[in-house]
Amino acid sequence: MNIFNSVSTGIARQRVTVEGIVQGVGFRPFVYSLASSLGLGGFVLNESNGVVIEVEGTPARLEAFETGLRDAPPPLARIDRINVEAVTPQNASGFTIAVSRTAAARNTLIAPDAATCDNCLRELLDPADRRYRYPFTNCTNCGPRFTIVEDIPYDRDKTTMQLFTMCPTCRREYENPLDRRFHAQPNACPLCGPHVTLSCLEGRPFQNDAAVRETARLLAAGRILAIKGLGGYHLACDGLNSTAVGRLRGGKRRDAKPFALMVPNLETAHSICRLNEAEATLLHSRRRPIVLLSRRPDCPVPPEVAPHYGTLGLMLPYTPLHHLLLHYFNGLTGSERPAVLVMTSGNGSSEPIAYQDDDALARLAPPAEGWLTHNRAIHVRCDDSVSRIIAGSEQIFRRSRGYAPEPVRLARAFPLPLLACGGHLKNTFCLGKGDQAFVSQHIGDLENVETLLSFREAIAHFQQLFDIHPAIVAYDLHPDYLATKYALELPVPHKIGVQHHHAHIASVLAEHGLEGPVIGVAADGTGYGSDGAVWGGEILLANLVRYERVAHLAYAPLPGGERAVRQPWRMAAAWLQQTFAQSDGEDDFLNLDIPFVAQLDRPRWHVVRQMIDRGLNTPATSSMGRLFDAVAALLGGRYEVAYEGQAAIELEMMAVPDGESYPFTFHERAPAGDGMWQMDPAPALRAITGDLQAGVAPATIAGRFHETMARMLATAVQRAREQSGLKQVALSGGVFQNRLLLERLLQLLQEDGFETYINHQVPPNDGGLSLGQAAVAAALVRSGALQPYD
Ligand code: ZN
Ligand code: ZN
Ligand code: FE
Repeated sequence: MNIFNSVSTGIARQRVTVEGIVQGVGFRPFVYSLASSLGLGGFVLNESNGVVIEVEGTPARLEAFETGLRDAPPPLARIDRINVEAVTPQNASGFTIAVSRTAAARNTLIAPDAATCDNCLRELLDPADRRYRYPFTNCTNCGPRFTIVEDIPYDRDKTTMQLFTMCPTCRREYENPLDRRFHAQPNACPLCGPHVTLSCLEGRPFQNDAAVRETARLLAAGRILAIKGLGGYHLACDGLNSTAVGRLRGGKRRDAKPFALMVPNLETAHSICRLNEAEATLLHSRRRPIVLLSRRPDCPVPPEVAPHYGTLGLMLPYTPLHHLLLHYFNGLTGSERPAVLVMTSGNGSSEPIAYQDDDALARLAPPAEGWLTHNRAIHVRCDDSVSRIIAGSEQIFRRSRGYAPEPVRLARAFPLPLLACGGHLKNTFCLGKGDQAFVSQHIGDLENVETLLSFREAIAHFQQLFDIHPAIVAYDLHPDYLATKYALELPVPHKIGVQHHHAHIASVLAEHGLEGPVIGVAADGTGYGSDGAVWGGEILLANLVRYERVAHLAYAPLPGGERAVRQPWRMAAAWLQQTFAQSDGEDDFLNLDIPFVAQLDRPRWHVVRQMIDRGLNTPATSSMGRLFDAVAALLGGRYEVAYEGQAAIELEMMAVPDGESYPFTFHERAPAGDGMWQMDPAPALRAITGDLQAGVAPATIAGRFHETMARMLATAVQRAREQSGLKQVALSGGVFQNRLLLERLLQLLQEDGFETYINHQVPPNDGGLSLGQAAVAAALVRSGALQPYD
């Protein structure tokens, strides 16, 4: 073997294969520069599995090369694996970028869309640059990716840029390995690339820079515009103009959910919200999510933007078009006020975001009075992502643009290709292959035909991009979920139903590379339980294969099912009725001297009471979300809500903790003997009515209720530890979006010596279910069991 020769001559050659997101992100030029600077010979090329490099030189320099490869890859690259093997030296001189081989397997990853990089931003604002004020400036370090890709391999003719032929100057950049735009597939300039157009209901259209300027002028004048972004259209208006915001809210038929805001820079963000360093870093990251932040007390943003919220969702510009728009808008509104634009998804309530031009024209007027659009097509619909910082780390609520389709890497490989269909609300699905879990972008609530169509299309697209043909399909146990029905119709050999809260807990295990068993705390809105009840306040002992339900929130009636979700007063009355019921069966709570009872619509209550008595459409529920709703209604919150969880969120927003809490009890479930116990908040509800009668402020009561729930769950976890000896705790479920509850519970558990785990890469809400389902189904198939829970 010549390897011995090479040792004696002091020259060695290595073949280095790199897997991960390494194509279309400037990886080969980076390797070329690194190898050349070290005087190494060899080549680099793209292969279907990633990038292959051969380097030849002294061992010390080869080592320096590998260090450089690991330590300073290009910004959009993600290295998952580096494999190094010794090969025979070939007396190579010079380093080259070789022509790509084509191979059958489709294993390279497509990068998520990335915000405009600093170099491109500089060019955008430089009057001497040929891309001065060109809204489609991008390079290998930034720009659109996932949303323009039609198929792989990632080449221009398989993206929506195929319609544009590069001019000679752009082509030279594209072909020069030392250029920042070497093989930048969306490369473009004002001469050869896409352009923007502003069309209004009346008057002639505006083109190019004039279109962006006119858009800014119209926004400053209080108009509402539809603006084409990376993954769909936004509806935009001046974020400080409450009339415009109100009109936008009316036009979207969305009278409660907060609107996201776009501000030109971090300085403006600091002027309206409080940001710590981690929050500023996340806001400014190339993923550019909407970050949830606390308002400053002097924040000038009107309440119409986010009614009843103490937080605002802020994002920074992520395309050159946004940068220019905010720049012009800022120039028009002057320095006395911050430049703040509402940038909310262009859709009606519960419909998917509009991303095709004709659809945007048809669906967004009204409220849109103009359309700032362009001729680079969006191939994949992708909403803005929503994230926050909790305990110093990111926790995502909606994982979409900037994140998808980057896979979550698992500790163990999938035994077979897999599809997990996710839940009903905030749906995502997940395709699994190897040790990669490709969680889709946010699909939405599967409540209408449009969203279901979007779900089907996105699954087909992911299957094609990642070449995954599932042999396992995982789904939620709820028989009426459209995602479940879809799963059951697929011609796939292994179909595995996964309990909702088991999936929530498993999503945490999967992210952290844990197998379990752990103590799982699922605090959630709605999930189908194995006993037919609606679960949502669950203490589980769980590993990836199975779970044991050791405790749950005491059951209460859920009168009217979905109606009770929309009408929190039903939950308040149901909980009070149960709490104050005497043996004579009378509604003793009706004698309480509290505002909720005084205002209760008695005839409506009697109808609901009859439903409960007869068990008509009234499942039992252990939902923590519904208990929060009930307390919100009890404290004078709204009778009806516009979306699931609204009352509970308002309860969190109003809460002012004073360190005090209310009593609660634990008792064995009837019939006794199954070993399961219940967490009963009835003593707390009695104490709350007492506080209400004593005139304690609702904000204080809300604070004490949060403290009570944190202590109750912490106590339940302690009991589960006594029972099991486990000290690792995984917490998930939509109710843990509640910062006050989650932070306090984490604190109590950590003080008590528990190791706590929460979701970071996928949402704790139902957007994270698909990953959990995938992890459970994979573990089950690996274990040889094809049906769970037997
Ligand atoms: Zn760039
Ligand atoms: Zn050009
Ligand atoms: Fe859930």
